[in-house]
Amino acid sequence: MELKLYDTLTRDKRLFRPIDPVRVRIYVCGPTVYDFAHIGNARPIIVFDVLFRLLRHLYGADHVTYVRNITDVDDKINARAAEENPGLALNEAIRIVTERTERQFHEDVAALGALPPTIEPRATEHIAEMRDLIERLVAAGNAYVAEEHVLFAVPSMKDYGRLSNRPLDEMLAGARVDVAPYKRDPMDFVLWKPSKPGEPAWPSPCGIATPGRPGWHIECSAMSWKHLGETFDIHGGGIDLVFPHHENEIAQSRCAFHTPVMANYWMHNGFLQVEGEKMSKSLGNFVTIHELLNTDTFGGRRWPGEVIRLAMFMTHYRQPVDWTVNRLHEAEIRRARWMGPHAQRGVPEKGRVSQSMLEALLDDLNTSEALVALDELARRSRAADETGPADLANDLAASLVWLGLANDAEFEYARAESKDLRDTVAAAMVGVEKEKISALVDARNAARKAKNFKEADRIRDELRTMGIELEDKKDGTTDWKVRR
Ligand SMILES: [Zn+2]
Repeated sequence: MELKLYDTLTRDKRLFRPIDPVRVRIYVCGPTVYDFAHIGNARPIIVFDVLFRLLRHLYGADHVTYVRNITDVDDKINARAAEENPGLALNEAIRIVTERTERQFHEDVAALGALPPTIEPRATEHIAEMRDLIERLVAAGNAYVAEEHVLFAVPSMKDYGRLSNRPLDEMLAGARVDVAPYKRDPMDFVLWKPSKPGEPAWPSPCGIATPGRPGWHIECSAMSWKHLGETFDIHGGGIDLVFPHHENEIAQSRCAFHTPVMANYWMHNGFLQVEGEKMSKSLGNFVTIHELLNTDTFGGRRWPGEVIRLAMFMTHYRQPVDWTVNRLHEAEIRRARWMGPHAQRGVPEKGRVSQSMLEALLDDLNTSEALVALDELARRSRAADETGPADLANDLAASLVWLGLANDAEFEYARAESKDLRDTVAAAMVGVEKEKISALVDARNAARKAKNFKEADRIRDELRTMGIELEDKKDGTTDWKVRR
């Protein structure tokens, strides 16, 4: 089994060879934690989760290190914190914003079926490594101090700009650099800057007296170095990060360590637009993962995480995606076909992961072909005699679980023969005791009988927060199930 990946730097698709097959190393730029993650942010999370799963399959789960950082120092965070908590000291206000956003991000991406990365480092915990890198760059003549800033001297690097491969004037326009008077060259970028009183601040490098804070790019060079080494296998992120962020990461890391490459493969997922338009808050088409999962704002209903994930797989990761309600409907119908009665006999642990699905993924993560392989497997599984051996149903279940499009509990739930057993599995799925759920359902029905609808609604909402959906039957009884 050979994995081929497209490398943005060399602009070709080639065989993946890890530097060390017992320690395959991948770094992906993670979120800046100041606001809900939007559906564009979900794309790299889902794409690189598939790559992580595939690498674990090829090299063994213990032999792959996936690092995805959390950016918790940023001017946008400072601004949001000051706006939300004007009465608090800025550091305290920042802590409130970043902790809440990080928790929300973890909830969102778990619902999308993304495995947690091996290491999730925070920028603020790597300031010492950033200072170290900055001092190496100054010592090597690739950076300089000016007016208490430290800047990377772009002309000092002969082959700067190979990743984005754009003419200098285009890069300048793209970087939207402010041509500050202390810059020797307009392309030079900030490694470190002084903090104003009240802003987050750390002791500065290079003997600068005023405490300061890092520029954006240096954090990823520092965290990938700390956790993956000077050179590693794969660096990933969204296409919008190619320039200036990744270009500058390369400049920093290669010049600090005198290495020919930072990572051997650079992978970038394509843009995402919503219903044919660029997503923006001003157009009112800004879609967060949280809204898709938990509110009725997109297409008038909530969408299960597995459907969102599947909808993303329908387009190759390097192509642009148009995120539409129709796409989600299509994904939902497709998944329902796989999860029909024929699949319900499936036991994931007893099945083999579809070889044709894996082969599609080995070809630069061709997810849309992988879905075709699942369609075919489901078709054969359906055609098999209901009373015959469940081999194909098992294989289908194993493949869906492998790709993160279903979980073990769903199959257990479907196989459960009695309502009582289904309730037990469902309660375990949401991590709440079955007796507690029944008691709440009874309390709600009692409140309804007493015409206390406010209390009845409150209990329904409480159950909904737990992940339980109620269904009132015509005969006056109420069923409950896991919210999909
Ligand atoms: Zn980064």
